[in-house]
Amino acid sequence: MTRRKRLPECFSRGPSAEKHSGSLFRRTRFAPAPTGYLHLGHIANAAYVWGMARATGARVLLRVEDHDAQRARPVYEQALLDDLDWLGFEADIHPTGEFRAGPCAGRQSDRHALYAEAARRLADAGRLYGCACTRQDLAASPADAAGERRYPGTCRDRGLGLGPDVAWRVRLEPGAETFDDRLRGRLTQEPAAQAGDVVIRDRLGNWTYQFAVAHDDWAQAVDLVIRGEDLLPSTGRQMAIARLLGRETPPAFAHHGLIMKSPTQKLSKSERDTGVRDLRAAGWPAARVIGEAAWRVGLLSRFEELPASEVHKALT
Ligand SMILES: [Zn+2]
Repeated sequence: MTRRKRLPECFSRGPSAEKHSGSLFRRTRFAPAPTGYLHLGHIANAAYVWGMARATGARVLLRVEDHDAQRARPVYEQALLDDLDWLGFEADIHPTGEFRAGPCAGRQSDRHALYAEAARRLADAGRLYGCACTRQDLAASPADAAGERRYPGTCRDRGLGLGPDVAWRVRLEPGAETFDDRLRGRLTQEPAAQAGDVVIRDRLGNWTYQFAVAHDDWAQAVDLVIRGEDLLPSTGRQMAIARLLGRETPPAFAHHGLIMKSPTQKLSKSERDTGVRDLRAAGWPAARVIGEAAWRVGLLSRFEELPASEVHKALT
């Protein structure tokens, strides 16, 4: 095994961790959105998730993030379940068979009642308001260096109800969110200054990514969130939303690098040359697909085959 990265000390199962609970973390998750087929970028994330889980004693929960009814497709969920089985990434909680059997607590579209109840509690606490801003209205705000536009609070005091045709926003108080990223060190974000009040339900009735993820990581007792650095700007706001929902201790976070198509372009789900289905159809064995993803994301210093059962060895 040609390892490149060593995990920081905080990931090693030292005597102090053993003394407390026998493992450093209890639960992490792999949480793809079924809006396209899995590609090498997802598999790099899976290598980190299963690798860190096995290295720290955590269990892996599978969550299908199909909160966006306009973009998610059952055919993509079927495909990702098949791909995970073929690759050998087996979830400890909500394994693929539970999704195939019907309604499943790991599928966000089956969790509507939980989100509605959480939203009701936020509304009762005076935290939610209706926002009737159009896409054009929102585009009028200046964008920051990363292209993100802060919601200026236009509807904060308009007194619009939480009707079906408006977006629902949660009021965020000014303040800093600080966390120790397990791969990047200590980071601070200011969600209210960065994003403004966050939409939790859009005008089409979809629960948003930010809300569903903050809710589920809390409700499903996830204490280690491992994901690509493209989601780093979401972390502070998800911590803030989770606290409003009642989460006392935020999860730990680990944001890893991405496999890039070019220095400035991320891989997309339409890249046929990196799609798991296409590589499989071209005759690649599963261990070659995982090894390719692990090498391209920097977990291995050169390409070699890597079975799912051995991904933790690239990390420890
Ligand atoms: Zn508005």
